[in-house]
Amino acid sequence: MSSQEHPSVTNFRNYIRINTVQPNPDYASCTEFLRGQAEELGAACQVIECVPGKPNVIMTLVGDDPTLPSFLLNSHTDVVPVFPEHWKYDPFSAHKDGEGNIYGRGTQDMKSVGIQYLEALKRLKKDGHKFLRTIHLTFVPDEEVSGGNGMGRLVETKVFREMNVGLGLDEGYSSTDNKMLVFYGERSSKAVKIKCSGQPGHGSQFLPNTAGEKLRKIINTFLDYREQQQQKLRDNPRLSLGDVTTINLTSLEGGVQPNVVPSELYVGFDVRVPPSELDHFETMVAGWCKEAGHGVSYVFDEKALDSKEMTCAEDGKNPWWDAFSDACKKENIELEKGIFPAGTDSHYVRKLGIDVLGFSPMNNTPRLLHDHNEYLNEKVFLRGIDIYATIIPALANVKSF
Ligand code: ZN
Repeated sequence: MSSQEHPSVTNFRNYIRINTVQPNPDYASCTEFLRGQAEELGAACQVIECVPGKPNVIMTLVGDDPTLPSFLLNSHTDVVPVFPEHWKYDPFSAHKDGEGNIYGRGTQDMKSVGIQYLEALKRLKKDGHKFLRTIHLTFVPDEEVSGGNGMGRLVETKVFREMNVGLGLDEGYSSTDNKMLVFYGERSSKAVKIKCSGQPGHGSQFLPNTAGEKLRKIINTFLDYREQQQQKLRDNPRLSLGDVTTINLTSLEGGVQPNVVPSELYVGFDVRVPPSELDHFETMVAGWCKEAGHGVSYVFDEKALDSKEMTCAEDGKNPWWDAFSDACKKENIELEKGIFPAGTDSHYVRKLGIDVLGFSPMNNTPRLLHDHNEYLNEKVFLRGIDIYATIIPALANVKSF
């Protein structure tokens, strides 16, 4: 059977077999594999470690006019942990079943995309295609642990500045129907911790002004807002998760012993906010804390980065978007635009004022990123290569504007 397998599928399965699972990804084997890919593609290749042991592999195909802003194809090389007992097959075996479903961690998120870029480019080069703009491929580490040591550092380097990127493509996720999803922005992760202080004392009394009463108000307000947002999403079929704010209570701390009313109680929420709601949300939280009473304060997790920047995805207003959406039309893809509900490396790049579209060409595929039994059908995988073989030249040949 393997002798009849499409070589691009074999290549994809080999990449899946490199165990780049967090927290100890085998980046050395991954880099060696990618160096081989660059060689096969005939691309220049450099490896940059902004943090020791965290390699960014950068491949470059110089365009006919290298002075024009370049076109970037980004993918991350790491994958999230697995619980092997819940998997039908070894998650790093890239097992292919009788229906052509390839099982493995990273088959959707996002080793498929990395290989699709490479396979599309190999095919285009073989067919004698030339590109006006320089194309860079970045294979970056540690996206699954928020990218701070990967893309987050790479964008600060001279090497990245000199790449002079005009447009980047990065990850999206699969759709369960025939449409394909494209993302022009993403929600910010705003982990927030609320401290409620009040009158401490003996647990036998009706003490006034207690931390517990304030904590109750805070929890009610946050969870009422959660319910409102969930209802908003339910009521409007045009909205998706990226368009609303999600809130989840994730921690509770405090207390001394059962008969002591504590002077402080804490509650933490995981909050994901769409770009258009960011400023509004912070003001709202400040208001909620004030309403809950004296001695209630909040602090947002300072490691979290706001993702305010959005890429213009309106027809006739952004030549990059027009080229992308025209190429998708050519491939008979029905696109659905949206805000990515979680964080990706795209926000580091958008922060520099660079346009980025999040797109993983997978449709009619259950959304299994980070889930057990993540798989991708080989037909969907191969179709993705055809799609990139149309999209890549369309974008790399966008004329100067
Ligand atoms: Zn990913």
